Amino acid sequence: MTILDRRLFGPGPSNPYPEATAALGLPLLGHLDPAFVAMMDETCDMLRTVWGTTNARTLPISATGSAGMEAAFVNTVSDGDVVVVAVNGLFGQRMAEVARRCGGEVVEVEHAWGTPVDVDRVVSAHPHPKVIAAVHAETSTGVRSDIAALGAAKGDALLLVDAVTSIAGIDLQADAWGIDVGYAGTQKCLGVAPGLAPFTIGERAWERRVEKPRSWYLDLGLLGGYVGEAGTKGGARTYHHTAPVAMVASLHAGLTRILEEGLPAVHARHQQAGHLLQAGLVEMGLELFADAGCRLPELTTVKVPDGVDSAAVRRELLERFGIEIGAGAGPYAATVWRIGLMGHNARPDAALLVLAALRDVLGR
Ligand code: PLP
Repeated sequence: MTILDRRLFGPGPSNPYPEATAALGLPLLGHLDPAFVAMMDETCDMLRTVWGTTNARTLPISATGSAGMEAAFVNTVSDGDVVVVAVNGLFGQRMAEVARRCGGEVVEVEHAWGTPVDVDRVVSAHPHPKVIAAVHAETSTGVRSDIAALGAAKGDALLLVDAVTSIAGIDLQADAWGIDVGYAGTQKCLGVAPGLAPFTIGERAWERRVEKPRSWYLDLGLLGGYVGEAGTKGGARTYHHTAPVAMVASLHAGLTRILEEGLPAVHARHQQAGHLLQAGLVEMGLELFADAGCRLPELTTVKVPDGVDSAAVRRELLERFGIEIGAGAGPYAATVWRIGLMGHNARPDAALLVLAALRDVLGR
């Protein structure tokens, strides 16, 4: 088996939508070619749809999800700004660290891993924060948090949300939920290779942005011209950096596929596959890690049974069945597995194959 043969399943870059993979191999357009400019406009339009926003400033940032996170904070936080960060996993921790590096006075609201964000605790953590930040879908724990409730309770603060693992997988409504700044990644439920960070920023946040952010590359004021008046259709283009044209073509293809299928159908597909997997794991006698009621369908966390070597099971799944599942994150590295059914993998046949393979490897 070659590595390519083996990479049939698993979270992350392993199995994008076929259309998105095929687009990576198309002849490259120049980054100033009018055909590419039109493709970028369409990509920004489709991103508005999956974000659930009309924000003019919606664009794919040319780097991974973490750069989206940096762009979100560096443009909204500077010295002494109070930032309340809801921390219920690894990516909340990363947000807090990025906010600190921007000079923010960070108030971390810690939660037990495996539990969702407690909106009351977060909004009462400080009387006047400039920013409240939270992760919608914590990939480290498989937990969904109620961003709509956080938005309803945010008061005057700007709401900054990580949607890396939620976008195009579960319901996400940036405008209706009061998200002021959001970033995502391409490699999860969007089913595209890693390398771009879909990003959106609304008017409130734009008006309160840091005038001269401590990053040149991620300064949204400069990036605006790159997509034409910050993502508005047909605006004047100025050179900012060379667009990663193949990645944008791939994202365009992935988004086209998703919107042709229809967002509600795509969400339902993720829901069904995740439920099937989770029910099967429980039936096998395994214990799920995330609290009931907040489990993500696209990313399932399950406890490694006592006496089982987590790494050996993962290795066997990969070598015998070509199925890649993730180790746990942070303190749960050896005691939790993370199984992604995202984008193209969010299908019943994928869920059933993972279950059958795991049953075989565990002898259950
Ligand atoms: N936020 C969340 C919730 C993630 O799952 C990830 C990556 O898995 C990131 C941020 C960082 O994204 P990237 O690895 O693309 O930089």
